[in-house]
Amino acid sequence: MKTLLNLTQPFRGFVYRCVRVVGPEGAPRVEVRVEPHAQGCPGCSRCLLPCPGYDTLPERSWSHVPLWGIAVDYIYRPRRVECPVHGVVVEHIPWTEGKRPFTKAMMGFLARWARRLSWRETARVFGTSWEAVYRSVEWYVEWGLANRILEGVKAIGIDEIHWSPGKRGANFLTVIYQIDAGCRRLLWVGPKRTQASLRRGLKALGPEVVSGLSFVCTDMWKPFLQVIAKQVGQALHVLDRFHIVMHQNKAVDEVRRAESARLRGATSGQYLKKMRWKLLRRGSRVRGRARGQLQALVASKLSTGRAWILKEAFQHFWEYTSPVWAKAFLHSWCTRAMRSQLEPMKKVARMLRRHEPLLLNWFRAKGELSSGAVEGLNNKIRVVTRRSYGFRTYRAMEVALYHNLGHLPEPECAHEFC
Ligand SMILES: [Zn+2]
Repeated sequence: MKTLLNLTQPFRGFVYRCVRVVGPEGAPRVEVRVEPHAQGCPGCSRCLLPCPGYDTLPERSWSHVPLWGIAVDYIYRPRRVECPVHGVVVEHIPWTEGKRPFTKAMMGFLARWARRLSWRETARVFGTSWEAVYRSVEWYVEWGLANRILEGVKAIGIDEIHWSPGKRGANFLTVIYQIDAGCRRLLWVGPKRTQASLRRGLKALGPEVVSGLSFVCTDMWKPFLQVIAKQVGQALHVLDRFHIVMHQNKAVDEVRRAESARLRGATSGQYLKKMRWKLLRRGSRVRGRARGQLQALVASKLSTGRAWILKEAFQHFWEYTSPVWAKAFLHSWCTRAMRSQLEPMKKVARMLRRHEPLLLNWFRAKGELSSGAVEGLNNKIRVVTRRSYGFRTYRAMEVALYHNLGHLPEPECAHEFC
């Protein structure tokens, strides 16, 4: 055991004195007694400089990475030192940080497993608590955020995400992603979706990052548009294609719902049965029997069919290369939608008209921005928030998002435990 400990975790100034198995037969534990090296000199925990010793505190224990399913504890009596600068303080203990009852190796071990398993499963497999896993991941994330380098961030995507039941502001998150081709990651996440949330996010990225941005990609969420115009004026602001498609889909769905309520019991109502998802998919991707049903719906001249045709016609918009022609197309589409007598589609047209310059910026950024980047990262967020982590608090979820999507640097360790 001592050989393994010296191989995996050698600490200067400390020796592994005695290793023994303690505890009852059914639940043995390995106790590793650590002592200061005879010639070693304790260091101040604040400035790390060697200082004269002051006194010795009572024994403390730290959980270490379990071996063969057997819990391992470090036992040590910390010394206090008299630092010329910081006065009487506890010495620097290299295997841990602060008052945590775990070794750094154990926290790293739990944090890395917590990316592969849910937190609850991690806790169960390694015989510890959910709280211990959470605190370990939190430590890992805090270290990563403090040590990450934000360089070369050219394009960001900003979005609001619905994460908990209810439609109040507190049920939403504001997220900032880096969406450069070579690096897609979560840069920042914060509660609510107000101007203040986004301002806090941009402040957290720092003025250098914000002033270096070339592209900002967002939804048409008004509070964000205002903050971006004010604070990231130099960047090309683009409305995200996926969000626009989403708004159009929502409008088609509204038309369908209203119409099927109106036609309940009528024979023409049959065209609307089980059509919801078929109407929301991109038309070119609907094949087979579903295709036939869509064509029958269009031929029926129902409002839903007309709304769907309008939505499908808009696909063409994204294929233009010249903003001039795209603009002409946008105008004609909006006119058509305004004459359609379908209120939800008219609403979309009014919204697109209102945001025309930002919409056309898409063509100025063509080739530089991937339309799927924000959507892809949103989907990953959903996987994390839905996986049964058993989040009890906003903070726990925030930590999990950074841990899974932040591509954060990790604290280095002499030995890789997992
Ligand atoms: Zn000091």
